[in-house]
Amino acid sequence: MDLWLKEKQIENAVMTYKIKETLHIEKTKYQDLAILDTYEFGRMLVLDGIVQTTIKDEFVYHEMITHIPLFTHNNPKKVLVVGGGDGGAIREILKHPSVEKVVLCEIDERVVDLSLKYLPEISSALNDPRCEVFIGDGIKYVIDHKGEFDVIIVDSTDPFGAAEGLFNVNFYNSLYECLTEDGIFVAQTETPIYLPQVVKKVFHDIKTAFPITRMFMAAIPTYPGVYWSFTIGSKKYDPLTIDENKIKDIDTKYYHKDLHKACFVLPKYIKNLIG
Ligand code: SAM
Repeated sequence: MDLWLKEKQIENAVMTYKIKETLHIEKTKYQDLAILDTYEFGRMLVLDGIVQTTIKDEFVYHEMITHIPLFTHNNPKKVLVVGGGDGGAIREILKHPSVEKVVLCEIDERVVDLSLKYLPEISSALNDPRCEVFIGDGIKYVIDHKGEFDVIIVDSTDPFGAAEGLFNVNFYNSLYECLTEDGIFVAQTETPIYLPQVVKKVFHDIKTAFPITRMFMAAIPTYPGVYWSFTIGSKKYDPLTIDENKIKDIDTKYYHKDLHKACFVLPKYIKNLIG
């Protein structure tokens, strides 16, 4: 029988994936969660019908959301991930020898449990002794931990439901307070093709909270529009002025030192959008 997942993140366009097997499906306290095995992308985590990560293309997102801020900071020791319960960002962060501790603050413990069970290639670093998993709301966690983190990575779902409060000025001001004096943060900031007004608003909200704001892009096949935006808010370090020759060669498939600045070169329509 032909089984297909039809992802309806965007109102008038869908992405579809042929399903080999449904490995797990449940309603958690926060969202509908499914782990599916697909013909094209392998196993995938789906929340509220929206693809979060897949075995085939997860490396693009996880490498870009982590190595850009971590190689921009001079000496990142303590890192916070808000969301990111699949553990992919943690795996990449722990490739940086300077990192002594990383906290994962994920609201839904079932995402963590089921990623550990069904997506070990992505999640296994959650068991590393340098990683602390905290189950709770990232908004409160950030308010309660002022001045603690060198780098914060907001690896969240889209701006609806539990993640809605992770996309506004109040949250960006709290992130500023939660960072050390030379801290830097990054967030996944959606698709400029389908949600230009969201991308524009988020960029400007981050700009009101941080002296240095930069947007970079990466091509992620399973996210709507493929060409996905990330935005950096930084107190001191500018990703565009660092010396790329100091970037160490770590084990990656997408990120490398020549891409560090190149990914900030934006097409005209995005430059015009964010002004
Ligand atoms: N890479 C993904 C994407 O862009 O589709 C995001 C992956 S990760 C699974 C997103 C996680 O953010 C989810 O597991 C969700 O439970 C978590 N999340 C949503 N709102 C949150 C909040 N307020 N605090 C902490 N975690 C949150």
